[in-house]
Amino acid sequence: MAWASSFDAFFKNFKRESKIISEYDITLIMTYIEENKLQKAFSVIEKVLRDIESAPLHIAVTGETGAGKSTFINTLRGVGHEEKGAAPTGAIETTMKRTPYPHPKLPNVTIWDLPGIGTTNFTPQNYLTEMKFGEYDFFIIISATRFKENDAQLAKAIAQMGMNFYFVRTKIDSDLDNEQKFKPKSFNKEEVLKNIKDYCSNHLQESLDSEPPVFLVSNVDISKYDFPKLETKLLQDLPAHKRHVFSLSLQSLTEATINYKRDSLKQKVFLEAMKAGALATIPLGGMISDILENLDETFNLYRSYFGLDDASLENIAQDLNMSVDDFKVHLRFPHLFAEHNDESLEDKLFKYIKHISSVTGGPVAAVTYYRMAYYLQNLFLDTAANDAIALLNSKALFEKKVGPYISEPPEYWEA
Ligand code: GDP
Repeated sequence: MAWASSFDAFFKNFKRESKIISEYDITLIMTYIEENKLQKAFSVIEKVLRDIESAPLHIAVTGETGAGKSTFINTLRGVGHEEKGAAPTGAIETTMKRTPYPHPKLPNVTIWDLPGIGTTNFTPQNYLTEMKFGEYDFFIIISATRFKENDAQLAKAIAQMGMNFYFVRTKIDSDLDNEQKFKPKSFNKEEVLKNIKDYCSNHLQESLDSEPPVFLVSNVDISKYDFPKLETKLLQDLPAHKRHVFSLSLQSLTEATINYKRDSLKQKVFLEAMKAGALATIPLGGMISDILENLDETFNLYRSYFGLDDASLENIAQDLNMSVDDFKVHLRFPHLFAEHNDESLEDKLFKYIKHISSVTGGPVAAVTYYRMAYYLQNLFLDTAANDAIALLNSKALFEKKVGPYISEPPEYWEA
């Protein structure tokens, strides 16, 4: 059946780390479609979507006072250190309890601040029991400068429980600065980074059997050093249905992150269209305003995922000492819904739908609600993602005091 192969072909476009549905579920759905058991196929799709939407994600972050744990937690949440609800930085740890920090945009994501094992005087096993280790998806152990034997023992205990941990060495920026200051002649950035990584790996390896996952990061700039690698590794290791919410929570501003978000949302939109396709015989006429209302909301959500909401744009503009309007001229999304030349929103949509039906062949009325919603969501998604990448590129260039660079619009832009 053509349907089954297009389903398979669609998901083949995505790499393991960005796939939000398991191979098992893909095979199951395809088998049902091939056997013409559509009801069953749709029940699986429904279940997959429910799992993706409701998947909770609990991240445990531990480390000794001063290592940069609070700063790392705020960074993961995209919360400024001076904002309300931020984990207090520069504070001496006094609590022996874990503290939950919800993600401000994603209610299913919670980051837990765990007291450093050294502060608690627990054995690693008692520590894990006390901290309710079974509730987390993974552990991040934060460390700076000197390696702590406690951390290695904790890592070992986590591994023995069959859980994942990631060792994060922070403050890499100040290590590099110091080396450069004190050894200006022999300074070699790559060498310094390698030495720090080897130092951590060797100490960890003394306690563990396997190659330990060590990531060098700077909380000052998470788009640099190993932070993007950490994000990719976490995505790879998470079960498929948790990848969606995690990729949306990513805060680093890199093209890879933007593409993870785009990939993840595209798959979700595709699954939703497959599900809706079963019921989709609703004709178009008269539904335009409903569609607009929902899609407008969807688009605003996409904008916020890609850091294009008004507040984020305002921050970038302030950073670069420019006005938001200077940025907006270069972006595509503000014009998607803008009303030019007396052309109403509805006229624009109809034009777009006509374009779709000229490509797909059917008369306008045959373009059903789900199909239109599918194409429009993809248009929004690509517009938002391309804008985010354009902004990233122009930001880098503005920072170098060169002119702005704006990527080419997607081909269907003129539709
Ligand atoms: P915590 O006690 O482990 O929660 O550590 P904090 O997050 O409060 O950080 C301790 C100090 O180190 C603060 O002054 C932070 O601003 C600073 N800090 C944290 N991470 C970094 C980093 O990656 N680079 C630099 N240069 N400073 C950092």
